[in-house]
Amino acid sequence: MTGVRRLLTALVTNPVAIGLLVVALFAGAGWMSGGTLQILTFLLVNILLAQSMNLLTGVAGQISLGHAGFFGMGAYASGILMKSYGLGFVATVPAAVAVAALTGLLVSFPAGRVREFYLAMMTLAFGLIFREVVREWNDVTGGAMGLSGVPSPMLRTLVIFDLKIDAAWYFRIVLIITAAVMWLLHNFIQSRFGRAFYAIHVSEVAAGSIGIPRAATKRLAYVLSGALAGLAGAFYAHLVGYLGPESFDLPRSVEVLVTTVVGGLGSMAGQVLSAVLFTFLPEKLQVFAQYQFIVYGIILAFSLIVIPRGLAGLLLLPPRFVKRAALRRVGDAAEPIRAVQATSEPGLRVERVTMRFGGLTAVDDVSLSLQPGRITALIGPNGSGKSTLINVISGIYQPSSGVVRFFGRAITGMADHRIAASGLVRTFQDPRLVPSFTVRENLLLGAHRLFRRNGLAAALNLPGAIREEGRHLATVEAVLRMAGLAEVADRTIESLPYGYRRLVEVGRALLAEPRAILLDEPAAGLTEAEMALLARLIRAMKQAGLMVLLIEHHMDFVAELVDDVVVLDSGRVIYHGDVQGMRRDPQVIAAYLGETEDVDA
Ligand code: ADP
Ligand code: MG
Repeated sequence: MTGVRRLLTALVTNPVAIGLLVVALFAGAGWMSGGTLQILTFLLVNILLAQSMNLLTGVAGQISLGHAGFFGMGAYASGILMKSYGLGFVATVPAAVAVAALTGLLVSFPAGRVREFYLAMMTLAFGLIFREVVREWNDVTGGAMGLSGVPSPMLRTLVIFDLKIDAAWYFRIVLIITAAVMWLLHNFIQSRFGRAFYAIHVSEVAAGSIGIPRAATKRLAYVLSGALAGLAGAFYAHLVGYLGPESFDLPRSVEVLVTTVVGGLGSMAGQVLSAVLFTFLPEKLQVFAQYQFIVYGIILAFSLIVIPRGLAGLLLLPPRFVKRAALRRVGDAAEPIRAVQATSEPGLRVERVTMRFGGLTAVDDVSLSLQPGRITALIGPNGSGKSTLINVISGIYQPSSGVVRFFGRAITGMADHRIAASGLVRTFQDPRLVPSFTVRENLLLGAHRLFRRNGLAAALNLPGAIREEGRHLATVEAVLRMAGLAEVADRTIESLPYGYRRLVEVGRALLAEPRAILLDEPAAGLTEAEMALLARLIRAMKQAGLMVLLIEHHMDFVAELVDDVVVLDSGRVIYHGDVQGMRRDPQVIAAYLGETEDVDA
């Protein structure tokens, strides 16, 4: 089965095969009947629409129940600008894309603030509002009667640069643009931008911890998805020459969502397969016309149960999120950890921080500081406030009182991704990686904040963008080797045992080139061998001059590694000093050591 999938994947993602198909369709258009051309053009519209939905929902994880609204924006914009204002195709299509992208931007502000159920309701509301506006705004949209007479190749009324466009040429134009857009989109998704979308999809908090701004990333996803749907809408408007509100109603939104889910969320190739299925299927189901949605419902239920990862999961290998060209051009051997200039000043100061949750004081008037090139252990019983303190320092919580300074600058109240981008990076007690990414892709994700090339360079696969990715991949290689992960570099996280996840998460934090790193129980659940690898990593961090804060219960592990110890109990610092002193401290023994180990030292 994997063999078949590999073969099919090679076929549908092979640039030569795709190029040949496009050339064959382009040339063959001259021999096709009007009906065939119409349905093939409609297929291209559906492919674009499915890609739009897939980008937003499958990749970026933002469910949309009002997608027909974006589609309709594009359709009405191009149709109205051409019919009522006499603008040409080369102006109306980009205008339609811009209008739909702007709509995406506007929707992203309310939608970007909510998740799951509320997001579904928010996008549903957008679709319903769009529908009502179209129905009521008679003068512009033709209201419920619709807008007829939109210039169309089928009616021989579409003219581009004084040339009358027939169905064959219209198909060719749409074909070439769709193929180009797909190429750009594919490159874009395989860049740091697509990886960031996935990171937001899986865990916004984890994305923030490596410097990925969640609001801006979501906004970008909505804008691009809107633009793609708008392009599809514009092509559709001229294909059919008539715009009725029912074409942009809730059923259309449902249809796109079903297409995307059945195709396989996250897979561009899967979307193409699914669009083919849903474009030709209704033809075959003419007899069931009024039961069309029952049929869709059954297909959706069937696919969710039998092929939860859609057609793509059944037929294809999962998509990858690193550019193949970059993998071929991995830069020269790099240092796994970028050295930080030593200073005698503490780089991170926590000053009298208190964190209350309702009546509970989880962190109580805690002060501590971290020095470059020193490892500080933060220990204490479960529930003593260790993770909460890291959450405050890394910007997930705003403390009730107190200040955190990083190289002199107060960072309390700053957004988590800004704190990470300033070089203060943390890991989580429960590893938060992208399960469907390989180890290598997860590590590369860590370097997100260091990329400088823009989205256009990534989408065009410009040499600079490839080189940049190759350079970070060289660091990934070095970290893979140091963390003992080289052998599993191309395995997905979901296929690996737990211990690997911890090491990968620590590695990913290193890829962000931190000056300070906060590790929340990185050794929990590791085997002896994995602990040795982790210890090697942590020593290398110290060597490179990083400030390290290490939460750990394993006393031998701590004793071997650390320079300073801070012990918390019920949110208060009960000890601050070296390991020997801690082991003799009566308060620490009473609160913590007594229950976890024999006090033989
Ligand atoms: P540790 O990491 O030392 O085991 P935590 O920092 O996770 O401890 O928790 C400290 C205390 O704060 C616990 O009593 C926990 O239940 C509470 N706590 C942590 N996060 C929250 C939260 N978001 N809301 C309410 N209480 C919390
Ligand atoms: Mg904890």
